[in-house]
Amino acid sequence: MFKVPRKLPISAISTFSTTGSISAQQQPRVFPLQHLNENEKKLVEKVKNFAQSSVKPLVREMDRDARINKQLLKKAFDLKLMGLKIDPKYGGSGVSFFELVLAVEELSKIDPAIALIMHLQNALVAPLIEEFGNEELKEKYLKKLCKDSVGAFALSEVVSGSDAFAMQTVAKKDGDHFILNGSKWGISNAPIADFFLVLANADPEKGYRGVTCFIVDRDHEGVVLGEQDDNLGMRAGTIAQVHLNSVRVPKTSIVGEYGKGYKYAIEVLNASRIVIGAQMVGLAQGCFDQTIPYLQERKQFGSRLIDF
Ligand SMILES: Cc1cc2nc3c(=O)[nH]c(=O)nc-3n(C[C@H](O)[C@H](O)[C@H](O)COP(=O)(O)OP(=O)(O)OC[C@H]3O[C@@H](n4cnc5c(N)ncnc54)[C@H](O)[C@@H]3O)c2cc1C
Repeated sequence: MFKVPRKLPISAISTFSTTGSISAQQQPRVFPLQHLNENEKKLVEKVKNFAQSSVKPLVREMDRDARINKQLLKKAFDLKLMGLKIDPKYGGSGVSFFELVLAVEELSKIDPAIALIMHLQNALVAPLIEEFGNEELKEKYLKKLCKDSVGAFALSEVVSGSDAFAMQTVAKKDGDHFILNGSKWGISNAPIADFFLVLANADPEKGYRGVTCFIVDRDHEGVVLGEQDDNLGMRAGTIAQVHLNSVRVPKTSIVGEYGKGYKYAIEVLNASRIVIGAQMVGLAQGCFDQTIPYLQERKQFGSRLIDF
């Protein structure tokens, strides 16, 4: 199960306990999410500094060019934002799910495109490997994700969006290998990805129970990147098709168990939806933060716009 843990300081527990005849210790521990503990505050401050000083000056340029600035991405790695939720033993920061939500919200206030890159890395790609992969895959790929590699999650296809497990990408067994054929569509981070988590059906007769997750390196023979989509609003958060033309991978590239890919995908997608919500809240807050000062400054008909 994907866990969503959150620890709060004792001071917060006493401040926000409900009043009544039962003692504070017996009361259910329910806290307002706006009350951040010291670690959460520090992380928000760190992301805010990065967003204001490094991301903000590049937002227009990256949006115009539909490309993320490589130096900026490197800085995100250096600040450990790309391995936020990953266990420190692999080089990550090991933050809680709630802290990840806060970080994505904060970054989205300035640029939802780089927030999308960070979000997918931390909420889809890393947890799928960390929760379900074997130690060998974790050692290799989680370390890469923390250091300098971007991962992408390749589930959707032109024919299968909401109905994701009606996918047509197949994985045919060939001795100790599988041969992947198909085309993935709408894959975020594909143009900058070093590897893909590819969901393919290894036993179409079993329906979704044949869906299996494979790790495939970007430079593997037969992996071809399709045209980049031109997105509205998050142009630098690049999305593209990924074609798999007889990609031969060893069975050791299966993440978790054969035939369990659909289960893993649903689990990480459910958690990731919360992070998408944070991204949209941050984006809305960013628009608000830009708009209010202008309304206070701009005058028409002898009055500030905000006073109408
Ligand atoms: C910004 C962005 C990033 C993405 N990144 C990734 C990624 O990294 N990896 C990846 O694999 N995919 C990615 N996708 C693809 C995404 O997962 C699909 O777009 C999504 O699953 C919806 O599929 P679809 O676009 O084909 O819409 P459709 O499935 O065609 O749905 C169209 C509409 O019909 C509605 N609908 C569908 N089925 C039903 C039903 N049974 N009852 C009622 N209404 C229904 C839907 O709610 C929707 O409003 C991304 C998409 C976007 C927009």
